[in-house]
Amino acid sequence: MARIFLLTGGNAGDVKRTLQRAQQLINDRIGPVLHCSHRYESEAWGFEAATRFSNQALEVSTDLEPEAVLDAVQEIERELGRNRAAEAIEKASTGAQYASRPIDIDLLFYDDAIIATERLTVPHPLLAERRFALVPLCEIARTKRHPSTGLTVGEMLESIRS
Ligand code: AMP
Repeated sequence: MARIFLLTGGNAGDVKRTLQRAQQLINDRIGPVLHCSHRYESEAWGFEAATRFSNQALEVSTDLEPEAVLDAVQEIERELGRNRAAEAIEKASTGAQYASRPIDIDLLFYDDAIIATERLTVPHPLLAERRFALVPLCEIARTKRHPSTGLTVGEMLESIRS
């Protein structure tokens, strides 16, 4: 049984409902949601978007291996309307690295595992620089330590505040 942290987010469609649905599907397919943060709003990161993003962090207990968690979150993203082909067209037309999307789910931590495969990097490689991930995560996991740097989530957030 592993303890994992996921970040759900989106900025297109009825985001509140989509995040609620994502939480339900995560609970049903990945494992019980032990804690979840509030939803936090932030400006889009890495591109110009008309609507702000909402993000929520979830702590989940799971029997799934890391790659199976990734399979499950990608299936949930597809079911909730994420269309990577449409995002690719938007990115090509704007030249930005990111595009609007109804749902995005990232695996932030998988216990204290350090994973670097073609499909999966854990802890999430951009966690330490993303305020929109650290703020909700801090609400439910302030003292959780990054297995490589040894910094707590609270310390990581402090370091990008300055
Ligand atoms: P995105 O378009 O931001 O959802 O990125 C998804 C891609 O990142 C997928 O192809 C995943 O295989 C890859 N990926 C690598 N590490 C992670 C992670 N920790 N959480 C989610 N996706 C990951």
